Amino acid sequence: MSLLKLSHVSAFYGPSQALFDVHLTLEEGQVLALMGRNGMGKTTTVKVICRMLRNRGGKVLFDGQDLANVPAYRAARKGLGLVPEGRRCFPNLSVYENLIAAARPGPWDFQAVTGLFPRLAERRDQMANSLSGGEQQMLAIGRALMTNPRLLILDEATEGLAPVIRQEIWASIRRLKQETGMAILVIDKSLRELRAIADNAVILDKGRSVWSGAIPDLSPQVTDRYLGV
Ligand code: ATP
Repeated sequence: MSLLKLSHVSAFYGPSQALFDVHLTLEEGQVLALMGRNGMGKTTTVKVICRMLRNRGGKVLFDGQDLANVPAYRAARKGLGLVPEGRRCFPNLSVYENLIAAARPGPWDFQAVTGLFPRLAERRDQMANSLSGGEQQMLAIGRALMTNPRLLILDEATEGLAPVIRQEIWASIRRLKQETGMAILVIDKSLRELRAIADNAVILDKGRSVWSGAIPDLSPQVTDRYLGV
């Protein structure tokens, strides 16, 4: 059974349709890249998976369970760990408080998270709003890990960061893949990094899934046509 399976998913913002017949499958232990140019529906797909937006048609199955009636606040309990676009930590809580506020039982605790991101231990008592962009991103990933997810969803986790910090973030994602085998859904603009880390990819174009397959099968013709690279 797949860990996550979307079939024939449609979604709307008011009267305006954003997703049309989206299909996506993610297996346990895999990294799936969700790709597409700006405005093609990647974040909307993530919102549907995490139940921040209901799908009007189709099905979203997580570990075989239909998520149709699961409210957003219960998605984390089901094992969906989201690192949202724009990070969104609690600005006036310390690093430690941000992490503890998200905690659920499991192997990911303060010690494990700071093992992955030692800088968060150094900044333990600092307010989140005083952290650099890269540190805030580490905190956002740490918060998602503290929920002990079965699936980690990273929406533009390296956006707006300096190249050296980006590399740190990618290194931590690689470690998660190699050392824990965590299933990861990743959205990012860097095709090169996605190629290096993902097993499979799904491409969205104008709200439709137009290509899916193994990363090595992603040809220049396909990236040219749908990603403009
Ligand atoms: P980006 O890479 O720019 O984040 P994306 O692929 O994540 O793009 P979405 O944010 O999912 O794209 O947007 C898909 C479509 O839905 C776009 O046409 C966008 O304008 C529209 N849309 C997104 N959020 C809303 C909203 N809150 N209300 C109305 N329309 C929206």
